[in-house]
Formats: sequence, C-alpha cells, structure tokens
Amino acid sequence: MRYKFLRFPEGKGKAVTLSYDDGVIHDMKFSDIITKHGLKCTFNLNSDVNRGLTDEQIKEFMLDRGHEIAVHGANHRANGSQSTTVGIRETLDCRRSLEQRFGKIIRGMAYPDTGIRFSANNQSYEKIKQYLEDLGIAYSRTLGGDNTSFMLPEDWHAWMPTAHHKNPEIMDYINKFLNYELSEKTYGARFYPVLFYMWGHSYEFNNDNNWELIEEIGEKLGHHDDIWYATNIEIYDYVNAYYSLVWSVDETMVYNPTLFEIWISIDKTIYSIKPGETLKF
Ligand SMILES: [Zn+2]
Repeated sequence: MRYKFLRFPEGKGKAVTLSYDDGVIHDMKFSDIITKHGLKCTFNLNSDVNRGLTDEQIKEFMLDRGHEIAVHGANHRANGSQSTTVGIRETLDCRRSLEQRFGKIIRGMAYPDTGIRFSANNQSYEKIKQYLEDLGIAYSRTLGGDNTSFMLPEDWHAWMPTAHHKNPEIMDYINKFLNYELSEKTYGARFYPVLFYMWGHSYEFNNDNNWELIEEIGEKLGHHDDIWYATNIEIYDYVNAYYSLVWSVDETMVYNPTLFEIWISIDKTIYSIKPGETLKF
C-alpha cells in the first residue's frame, strides 16, 4: 500500500458544513432556506442571552431538521479576554443549560466575539484549549482567516472555516470547491478529502437585505451526489472514528472498533469497513 485517504460516508470525497451564530429570530428563515437545499448547519447559541428565539423554535427549526446546536458562551464573552475561571464558567454554564433544555449531549462550540484571536488578562490559547478539553468540548470554531485549501482541521479547537458568507470571494471559493477534482493523476495531496465550511450570522442577510445570497449559495452547494452534508459534530465524530481504525503493521489488516461504517480510499480503490469488522487486503 502506498497511500490511504479518508473518505466520507458512501465513499464521498467532499463535505459541506455551515456554522451560524447567536441564535436570532432570522435563524428560522435561514433554516427554511438551507434545509430546502439539503445543507446542514451548526447553530451556536448563548444560553443566557435571549434574542427572541424560543426553545420550541430551536427544536422545530434546528434540532428536528437534523441541524446541530452548540455552545457559544453563556453570555457571548470572548474566551481570549476572560480569565480561566470565567471562561470555564461561561462554557460550562452554556453547555449544561443547552443539554438540560434540549435533552441532548452538547460537545460543539464556536468561540464568541473575538474568540482566541487576542489574549488578554493572562489568557492564552493553550490554557483555553486545555480547559475546553477538560469540559468535554470536542471542537471549537475560530475565525480570522480563510481556509481555502479545504483541508480538515489539524487542531479541532482552532477549526478555521473556509470563509464567512460576506467574504467578497465566497462565490469563487464555492466554484473552486465544486470544481475540485480528487484526481487519480495527481494521486498525492490532491487525494485528501475536502471540506467547504461557511459561517456567519443569519441576521446579516436581514441587515444587508440580501437573502437571495443564501438562496444562491444553497442552490449552488446543495444536492450534489458527491458531497456529504453534515453538521460540525457529525464531521468531527466521523473523522475521529476514522482515526480510531486499528491497523496491522504491514497494513494488510484493519479493524473498525467504532459504531460508524467507515470509508477509505486505498491505492485508488474505495473500501468500507463495517462496525466491528476486520478487513483484510
Ligand atoms: Zn457570536
């Protein structure tokens, strides 16, 4: 075997995910549009800030449609600017509140405000990452750059999205992603799976009076047979299940100890390994 590459469910090489913040009433219209186009979103909520969205609406427009809800800090305070004690409290309060109100285990997060871009009050990214791991936060979305390589994150607690929807190059990025060929001719780096990850706030479509933008994006990105549409935590869980595969030294045997069926591309052939299965090549 020369190379092996992760493939998403059904052997797909591409995935798309969305991440929208703050839990505002415009999330309902946003959910109508993206759900129609087959996209999946993670909605990042502040447990202690009421912006008009009721728990019933969160259930109806987010959870019942297969979207994820995630931590965005109880009061939307930047982790990089808070002491560790306050950061822990903000994260844990939010996580516990969402879990209790919605009866789901919540493990995802998007950093509120300036997040981890700046450090003040003796804070550092290393300290924040440490307490997030201790608090059971599996991943956290950061901001401040464009991930136009579409590569999966190496550090799940500094998960850089592809772009904000207001990025002037957003349509170019989408075209680049859709045209990206996992080419057999360039069977090295080009064969890694790719992820298009867009973020923003639904109220921006209202403020900017451009709901047609998300309609257009949904029209372009949605309902492709070669794309896996997933929430942030679904991607995290699947990728980490892939990382949990157990290989023999000579790579002729692989055991899947997880509950996921896992797809893998080995020397240009796609295999799937069922839960509990040992595959021999
Ligand atoms: Zn926010």
